Amino acid sequence: MANLYARLAACFPADDAKFAVLPEGAVVTYGELDDRTARFSNQLRALGVQIGDRVAVQTEKSLDMVVLYLATVRAGAVFLPLNTAYTASELGYFLNDAEPALFVCDPARLEELRTVAAAAGVRAIETLDDAGNGSFGRKAGAQPDRFATVARDDGDLAAILYTSGTTGRSKGAMISHDNLASNAFTLVDAWRFTRDDVLLHALPIFHTHGLFVAINTVIAAGASMRFLPRFDAASVIAQLPGATVMMGVPTFYTRLLDSPLLDRDLTSHMRLFISGSAPLSADVHRAFLERTGHAILERYGMTETNMITSNPYDGARRAGTVGHALPGVSVRIVDLETGIALSDGDIGMIEVAGPNVFSGYWQQPERRATDFRNGYFITGDLGVVDDQGYVAIVGRDKDLIITGGFNVYPAEIEALLDALPEVRESAVIGAPHPDLGEGVVAVVVLESPGTADAASLLGAIQDKLARFKQPRRLVLVDALPRNAMAKIQKAQLRAEYRDIFA
Ligand code: ATP
Ligand code: MG
Repeated sequence: MANLYARLAACFPADDAKFAVLPEGAVVTYGELDDRTARFSNQLRALGVQIGDRVAVQTEKSLDMVVLYLATVRAGAVFLPLNTAYTASELGYFLNDAEPALFVCDPARLEELRTVAAAAGVRAIETLDDAGNGSFGRKAGAQPDRFATVARDDGDLAAILYTSGTTGRSKGAMISHDNLASNAFTLVDAWRFTRDDVLLHALPIFHTHGLFVAINTVIAAGASMRFLPRFDAASVIAQLPGATVMMGVPTFYTRLLDSPLLDRDLTSHMRLFISGSAPLSADVHRAFLERTGHAILERYGMTETNMITSNPYDGARRAGTVGHALPGVSVRIVDLETGIALSDGDIGMIEVAGPNVFSGYWQQPERRATDFRNGYFITGDLGVVDDQGYVAIVGRDKDLIITGGFNVYPAEIEALLDALPEVRESAVIGAPHPDLGEGVVAVVVLESPGTADAASLLGAIQDKLARFKQPRRLVLVDALPRNAMAKIQKAQLRAEYRDIFA
């Protein structure tokens, strides 16, 4: 059957096999997962949720939210998780846009959000928290633990996932049962997951990385996970001995490196460290390798496409690259204007096609004409393929800097800055410039304050860069603005330094 839940449930190991271990040690088995999912599916039906209806969810990370995701899919409805940071007015936008049949929120926010949901025309609102106190979990407890999974086709919607909003307003990506199932099975193979694996799960689950990449892959392998409410270096280090694989955003790795407890002994039993959602600097990759002996496996994906490329499991994991197209996924690099495929070594737009690629944005059918070209989705990311077929991302097309008529790719300059011992991280942007159109600005965070100044840092990279690429200004700051997925908010930086050349 094409229902994602049915395809995942077919991989469940024995009923008493572990699915998740919570921080306090409580264990949820696969048998319990199946029963609880059935109760939740029955409760969704009792609340009037029909096939194809959206179930919007904004709750703190909990195992019950994972169960609600699986139950929604099992009942043939469409799961729609929302970032826990969204305010009431932001939620109003999403609820109006998605028109869910049910909205599930934290008990603590019920009063505030009830009016927002009502104003958006949402029929039912329920609550869920990780202590089992919410109305939804309570009512579901009284439901039968058997539920006949609803038949669905490959192309039917399983989820609407809003993009991170890094480049503008978040868009609702319509994701099908097969988009998710095909990618999960591809990742099990690519990353050699087995039933013996234990994933350390510290990512948020309102985003594709923590929800689909992590959880679907674990279930498709019949593996288990250590489920943490959030990332903090101390708890991750405490839980590492019980894990075999970790998935993280790049800042997880930077923060782990800050701890003297991270060393070879702590990680020698680990099978794999994976990074994605934002660029992992080659510098962090090298530092992690030196400290632990593990080469972090970097991969690349998007909300709209699930995972696209991955560094190899066997074979060289090349720092600063995202590896090769995954099996069954087709990646090409094309000329920005003409859409004609470029040869290796030339920078262009990354386009992707395959069973993993979404069908379009919710309520924006007109965008299909501009977001797709010859059957390929236009990612908005610029990249280049090296002599060994590895894809390197050089930045987003919206972040490309055009100075005096020349293209400057921020990633090239960021890599040089990040490689300097004094530099912790950097972001390179374009700011309006009276003569050049845009001028290159580097915003830099030092490892420790006072160890370098703008002139010394610029001096250290100038021999390695053509004159037009050299930053005209370098600003030292304490921290770069990042969102929940550790993505640097370049639009915010551009606004901040808009007048730097005025
Ligand atoms: P929005 O589309 O709303 O502006 P977003 O693109 O950040 O936000 P996501 O779908 O969460 O939303 O992120 C996908 C993007 O993340 C990719 O298009 C790419 O720019 C970036 N990304 C993901 N993995 C990597 C990686 N390994 N290296 C560099 N960039 C990455
Ligand atoms: Mg995007």
